[in-house]
Amino acid sequence: MLIILLGPPGAGKGTQADRIVKNHGLVYISTGDILRKAVKEESSLGRKAQEFMDQGQLVPDNLVVEIVRERLKEPDCLNGALLDGFPRTVEQAVFLENVLPEIEAAIDQVLLIEVEENELVERLTGRRVCCDCGANYHVKYKSPKVRNVCDQCGGDLYQRDDDTLTTVKERLEVYKKQTEPLIEFYQERDLLYTVDGNKEIDEVNEQINNVLKEL
Ligand code: AMP
Repeated sequence: MLIILLGPPGAGKGTQADRIVKNHGLVYISTGDILRKAVKEESSLGRKAQEFMDQGQLVPDNLVVEIVRERLKEPDCLNGALLDGFPRTVEQAVFLENVLPEIEAAIDQVLLIEVEENELVERLTGRRVCCDCGANYHVKYKSPKVRNVCDQCGGDLYQRDDDTLTTVKERLEVYKKQTEPLIEFYQERDLLYTVDGNKEIDEVNEQINNVLKEL
């Protein structure tokens, strides 16, 4: 099974992905996580990607597509995978279509999570992340028990460089210009299902589960 999560930054893709992989036994592939790890490790990929990420721009396609191809070929993906944050351009989507025969897979569903823009800005600029375990918090909606300390592991919480207001606005613009065309791309292939992401996390998850159980 191959599922793609599509939607603007802040739509809750990561939160829903967590639940989907647990419920459906899928491997989670987030290009954002892979790139952030590369930046942290200061690998050659990380050094090339960092500047684009800090500015809220997309990392060039040629740096991203091979990572996904190699990851999808790993044996643990045989039972299915959930792609979060990939594809993000029509070029990446075409690349993915060409890779699928190599791994004898097909896209089962593209889930688009839609959220109003004001809500996205509030969610992203208020987000705080644990520097050790990656757990997500929000200054208003999900604050930790002790200020700036992770409830789960005691790590320090920080604001991602790309969650500042200026960069968030840039990321939303980039989404509109470069990623939104994928909506039509997947509609034409009859693969798109739209979920109302303004609702509570559980309700969004229920909408998603209803779609996935039909597959
Ligand atoms: P995310 O965590 O998915 O919001 O991704 C964080 C940042 O990583 C994005 O703003 C981009 O700079 C970069 N990125 C993640 N996935 C991709 C992709 N598929 N193509 C290009 N850049 C990406």
